[in-house]
Amino acid sequence: LLRELPVARSRGADGVGLYRTEFPYLMRRDAPTEAQQLAVYQRAFEEFPDRPITFRTLDLGGDKIAPFLQGDEGTAELEDNPFLGQRSIRLSLAHPDLFRTQLRALLRACDGHKGRILFPMISAVDEMKEVLRQVDLARAELRSRGTAFADEVQIGAMIEVPAAVEIAPHLTKLVDFLSVGTNDLLQYTVAADRGNRKVAELASNYHPALFSLLSRLSWEATKAGVPVSVCGEMAADPACALFLAGIQVDALSMDSRYIPRTKVLLRGYELSELKEIAGGARKLATASEVNRFLHQNLRVPPEAERLFAGAH
Ligand code: PEP
Ligand code: MG
Repeated sequence: LLRELPVARSRGADGVGLYRTEFPYLMRRDAPTEAQQLAVYQRAFEEFPDRPITFRTLDLGGDKIAPFLQGDEGTAELEDNPFLGQRSIRLSLAHPDLFRTQLRALLRACDGHKGRILFPMISAVDEMKEVLRQVDLARAELRSRGTAFADEVQIGAMIEVPAAVEIAPHLTKLVDFLSVGTNDLLQYTVAADRGNRKVAELASNYHPALFSLLSRLSWEATKAGVPVSVCGEMAADPACALFLAGIQVDALSMDSRYIPRTKVLLRGYELSELKEIAGGARKLATASEVNRFLHQNLRVPPEAERLFAGAH
């Protein structure tokens, strides 16, 4: 939310790793106009004028149903299994006018700033290509109107389904960066709803399958020279942060409350040690073993203990 940005800045954020753009859509009866969205995105840059802000395009569907889409055939509400249905980027691509309105607002807001546009839940190369085609169309629309916009904006794919990890070598040819949404990547990997307490044990951030996918993704991205960040809740867990730094993820994005402690923690390690810890975690078979191993390797500086009170 916009009001969270000054707080994030004061807590040492180097930018915004995940700006969720759906709130203005959820709060209104009608979809926000290009001008209304532009005003919101520009305000975000007032707080971080010279730092990167990663705007994620509309991530509706699943449990987030916008009032203006209700009753529209094919929306999440009418689907038997909305989390496997037309959610997120699929919904945006099914409504190209709505999608391009947002893209135009974003391209305009990023003019003169370090803006990045991130597309959620990409699961196929053709889907990513269609997204890029829509970005080109949005640029052409702005050009024909004579409206100024950012030409150099960075484009990223969000990695939230296992298929995206498998096709990462192809996706890296199309985008400037990757960002892993571990909340969704985990729920789609273990087929366990992230909000369902009955299966919460299975949907553990320490699940070895998640660790394996993340290692491979980071390796592929590094090979392709494409930076990869993690913006799921996992990044805020100190034990997981050790692992993510060890597999050389380039950036961590988290609730700003956890930024100070994560910085203190990671500064206490050499990269070589983090790599060893990540390698050790990768050999383990169960989430509880991974959890135990990482916590054994967690060194909380005594002067920072209060920052870790209540940590996962
Ligand atoms: C994620 O899935 O990890 C993510 C960051 O997106 P959201 O939590 O908004 O689904
Ligand atoms: Mg997600």
